[in-house]
Amino acid sequence: SVDIPMKQRLWSPLVRDLVPYVPGEQPKINNLIKLNTNESPFPPSPKVREAVISALGLDGDVLRLYPDPDASSLKQVIATYHGLATNQVFLGNGSDEVLAHIYTAFFKQSLPILSPDISYSFYPVYSQLYAVETVQIPLDADFRIDVNDYKVPNGGVILANPNAPTGVLLSLDQIRQLLSNNPESVVVIDEAYIDFGGQSAIALINEFDNLVVCHTVSKSRALAGLRIGMVFGQAHLIEALERVKNSFNSYPLDRLAIAGGVASYEDDAYFQSTCQALIDLREDLVSKLQGLGFDVLPSHANFIFARHPQHEAVTLAKGLRESGIIVRHFAKPRIDQFLRITIGTAEQNQALVSRLQEIL
Ligand code: PMP
Repeated sequence: SVDIPMKQRLWSPLVRDLVPYVPGEQPKINNLIKLNTNESPFPPSPKVREAVISALGLDGDVLRLYPDPDASSLKQVIATYHGLATNQVFLGNGSDEVLAHIYTAFFKQSLPILSPDISYSFYPVYSQLYAVETVQIPLDADFRIDVNDYKVPNGGVILANPNAPTGVLLSLDQIRQLLSNNPESVVVIDEAYIDFGGQSAIALINEFDNLVVCHTVSKSRALAGLRIGMVFGQAHLIEALERVKNSFNSYPLDRLAIAGGVASYEDDAYFQSTCQALIDLREDLVSKLQGLGFDVLPSHANFIFARHPQHEAVTLAKGLRESGIIVRHFAKPRIDQFLRITIGTAEQNQALVSRLQEIL
């Protein structure tokens, strides 16, 4: 057609129409206080570093060889950690990748899928990319997901718990209700932030044959740079994901990720203590921001979602950016008055609070 820009004329219609995901800024300069993409403020367990270096060996010769196509050592460690069988665990390169496999494996149904209208902004992109019709359901007045809104016939349900970017948590009872209401569709609970105070729906896997839970090592395990994401569910669901993965002839993980991942799950004391430290930092930051007049949604994540009744969020974000502090702002109706702020170290959080104090 005449309206197609020249450079797009060889693109598929799907890609031409796609509104691409805009990821959080990953600045090349590193003297910034980076509170915009929910990475951990702590380093990973020192045992992860040791394991990665030791997997590499003195000459790196091991990198000549393909990794284990099943990443079975990591699968075993993670399955044991969560009290599951290895055929209830699926691994991929970060949860964004496993989510893509979920869309392919479960969502191409005759009915639309359901998802909150404010949730992880990748879901609508995948819906477009995989041509999965999606009905977005508004959050209630308190920015909560009401599971009673998810009773209409559907071809699947996907939501994040705690939700992103709000940080608001659903209880295990509410998840159970959601699953009982939708026995004929796959319900996907994306638990990227569950380790910061929530109860995981992994506890419900043997009870529900339609539940799929996603985890990542990017947040609570401080390993966003290693790229490991995983899915838990009953074996018949994991089998569908393996079938999709094998159709790409892809390896779930590289050798260094497998080694580092194993070490992270083996060092549970470090994991538990850093999760608790993060929660303490969050509670401290919440009370300081409330002291400055911010409304802060109740967060169970490693970020908070906050607005100031007298100040535009864009202006605040700009003011912070000028002094080298990056936070996230979404130009989306209903949430454009909020800032999403990743919990940093005590020093970073203090710098944020001091700078906000000046701006206000
Ligand atoms: N799910 C949610 C809700 C997220 O916020 C993120 C991080 N942007 C991801 C999944 C993806 O995490 P990763 O690909 O690093 O595992």
